[in-house]
Amino acid sequence: MGLPQQVEYLIIGAGVHGLSTAYHLSKYLKEKGQGGGADVLVVEKSSIAAGASGVACGNVRCNYYQEPMTRLMIHCMDIWESDPDTFAYNAVGYLTASFAPMAAGLAAVYQRHQSLGYPSHFIEGEKHVKKYMQGIFYDWQAEKLEVVLHEHRGGHAWSKQAIHGLAIKAEQEDAQVMTGVTVTGFEIAGDGSVTAVHTDVGVIQVGHVIVAVGPWIKTLWGMLDLPQEVASPHHAADMMELWRFLALQEGEIEVNPYIHITNNGQRPPLVHVDSDVPLYGEDGRLVWDQPWGIYFKRDKHAVQGGAVPLDVGSECHIDPYGARSPFYCVGDDFYDLWAASLAHCMKRFQGMRPYASTRPSGGVGAFSADNFPVFDFMRPNVYVIADSNHGFKMIGVGEQVARILTGESSELLAPFAFSRFAAQKPLPKSNAPFPWM
Ligand SMILES: Cc1cc2nc3c(=O)[nH]c(=O)nc-3n(C[C@H](O)[C@H](O)[C@H](O)COP(=O)(O)OP(=O)(O)OC[C@H]3O[C@@H](n4cnc5c(N)ncnc54)[C@H](O)[C@@H]3O)c2cc1C
Repeated sequence: MGLPQQVEYLIIGAGVHGLSTAYHLSKYLKEKGQGGGADVLVVEKSSIAAGASGVACGNVRCNYYQEPMTRLMIHCMDIWESDPDTFAYNAVGYLTASFAPMAAGLAAVYQRHQSLGYPSHFIEGEKHVKKYMQGIFYDWQAEKLEVVLHEHRGGHAWSKQAIHGLAIKAEQEDAQVMTGVTVTGFEIAGDGSVTAVHTDVGVIQVGHVIVAVGPWIKTLWGMLDLPQEVASPHHAADMMELWRFLALQEGEIEVNPYIHITNNGQRPPLVHVDSDVPLYGEDGRLVWDQPWGIYFKRDKHAVQGGAVPLDVGSECHIDPYGARSPFYCVGDDFYDLWAASLAHCMKRFQGMRPYASTRPSGGVGAFSADNFPVFDFMRPNVYVIADSNHGFKMIGVGEQVARILTGESSELLAPFAFSRFAAQKPLPKSNAPFPWM
């Protein structure tokens, strides 16, 4: 099939946001008598799930310090749970065990969960935390953890399968997905709207454009001639670059994944730990003496997870661009820290460092100046979904965008308007060592 000459809704990017938008938009257009899937085309330069969505750990949680993020995540959780088979969603829960600096923040998150009717459990005090953890994993041994927040909803999805599930749903609603089509530029009219999109296989006239390009946002932002600098969220007089890149450090320990099991033989929750206990390698060498944060899960063929990301600046030297997907090869430093922290937490992971995978893993994320998403019309007919790397779990954003495009408003997405930078209305920052909590 060649590129059509025109389409009403052109979606750029076949990751979680592009495909969730395509699916919900096709459905709502039909339901509202405004058209249908035939009006929706997704163009993707590589293949379905080739970007960040396909390499994500796939964790789905609602542990967010900021109320707008919590509300949006509960909405996303509803969508994950609406079709767990197609979305390859494992509803195993999400457990965060943290050190003293995080205690007040996690207590606040728990209170918000309670007020919003989201089921979670909060444990305080080092002794109680250890007892609670040993009730799930008999060999839990991490010291100096003061709080646990155990979400009974949430968990993780198999990332590639989930995105293919969305593509199937979009195509069932008659949306088209064209792979191997790279967007190279935009024709912009006098009123600021985009009239045509240039690709490497031709030009297409458009009614609306939805940009959902994940870590490639800086390039597309430039093509749309949008401001590359914003007022600093904390000092209005200072300007700062809007987009910068972090390398997400993730990997696998290639052992039988079934060693990671709960005391009652169940698939374990996704576990997240923040601590500042110094970590030592199997040879007794000090490998980490700063605060650290890790997460891990039972994967299909290994134990998989990650640690705090590395800032790689406003130019991405790891090159997630062009024809390549945003793979990033993590190295020995990551595996020294991650394997030592797993062993620090659970006896069953002692001696596992030699089984660290040598396959490429991890990836690059584009983060905004305040580390929160930009969900907004950036031109009169161009909606940008740029999630500041919060987003595999945000499967419900496309649903809200579809509502907006079919004439509704979205209270859930309003706090993520681009105008917050000029208005100096940043979302509150947590004490977490991760930029996405
Ligand atoms: C290693 C890693 C682990 C992560 N783990 C998690 C996690 O556990 N939970 C979580 O919630 N989030 C996680 N994230 C973040 C999450 O993956 C992203 O926020 C989310 O997937 C972004 O989705 P997207 O649809 O915007 O982008 P993507 O999935 O990257 O899709 C964008 C698509 O656009 C295409 N594209 C780019 N430029 C063009 C162009 N010019 N023309 C046509 N097509 C183009 C790309 O090929 C790509 O397929 C992780 C990220 C990484 C890198």
